[in-house]
Amino acid sequence: MTPSQTPVRYDISRSDLVALLDGEPRYRVDQVWEGLHQRGLDPAEMTDLPKALRAQLEDLLAPGLALVAESESDAGGTVKSLWALSGGSRVETVLMRYRDRVTVCISSQAGCGMGCVFCATGQAGLTRQLTTGEIVEQVIRARRRAEPRRLGNIVFMGMGEPLANYAAVWAAVERLHDDVGISARRITVSTVGLVPGIRRLAAERLPVNLAVSLHAANDELRDSLVPVNRRYPLAELAAACRDYHEATGRRLSFEWAMIARVNDRPSDAAELASIAKPLHAHVNLIPLNPTPGYATSGTPAAGVRAFQERLAGLGVNATVRDNRGTDIDAACGQLAARSIAPPADAGTGAAADPALPADPAAGRRSADLLLR
Ligand code: SF4
Repeated sequence: MTPSQTPVRYDISRSDLVALLDGEPRYRVDQVWEGLHQRGLDPAEMTDLPKALRAQLEDLLAPGLALVAESESDAGGTVKSLWALSGGSRVETVLMRYRDRVTVCISSQAGCGMGCVFCATGQAGLTRQLTTGEIVEQVIRARRRAEPRRLGNIVFMGMGEPLANYAAVWAAVERLHDDVGISARRITVSTVGLVPGIRRLAAERLPVNLAVSLHAANDELRDSLVPVNRRYPLAELAAACRDYHEATGRRLSFEWAMIARVNDRPSDAAELASIAKPLHAHVNLIPLNPTPGYATSGTPAAGVRAFQERLAGLGVNATVRDNRGTDIDAACGQLAARSIAPPADAGTGAAADPALPADPAAGRRSADLLLR
């Protein structure tokens, strides 16, 4: 949080709440804390509190997210929400309901400063860091939106590079685990390859899943696609991944946005396998669609399958993602750059927007990459 930012509802700690409820019976702290985190209630909905206290808390604990727009796809299975933050920045959350699980993809920054050349979010740059409260609130809102299904998985794959906002992201992981009740094995943190952040993550008390947006497996190509590779080249990144896996025992996955004639050649598969196989990493293949600043096409479906088979032949398991939500750009950072349907309660009565252009989706760490 910058000094000018006012703490929002989920920025407060339990000790902040104790101070806030000074003069109230001690059990009020538990009531409010559980109401916020386990039940996801607004203070006004906490009917076990006196009315005056509810009103007071509603003022003191302002929400950090204001819904600007919401859009659905996949027959309502995917819900993309666009939120306004204090100061006017916008971020996205994508809720994905699968047959066997419900996953939410959350943002950690407004925009992103990593500059991956194929990514619309990267092309727009970093606006600001999210606070812990703004990150946690995305999950709380998604959990309510998912009802009566149970929100099971959280992936930090929305806007931003989570490890470039380390303190807020990690505090959010702890809050989600300790207070919201989401197991660390259900939380995936993704990174484009910030090696110090991976090493720091490995030393934390909660072993979360790690996803690395690889996209290229030789330094020359990766330098050109993912600029951070110039600072943390592949050998260093692979070593950090190995140490992470050894320290935590958690699953490691690599994301590979498939770009026609750029990283979908047999030699690319061989290079990828040489890194992924020793790390026992799973690979997620996502056909890339062009963005305004990077007009190269994604690999056609047959080419993606061929690449997958080649990896299998080299001993590497790979999944081809179904690009859930592509028709609403539900992937890495697209939402905030675009206009989507107003929420149903904004007066249109339309949760889905048939007028959405069939625009190419993101350069992506796809929102639905990981959880199987
Ligand atoms: S791909 Fe991810 S890390 Fe790279 S610029 Fe886009 S949001 Fe940032």
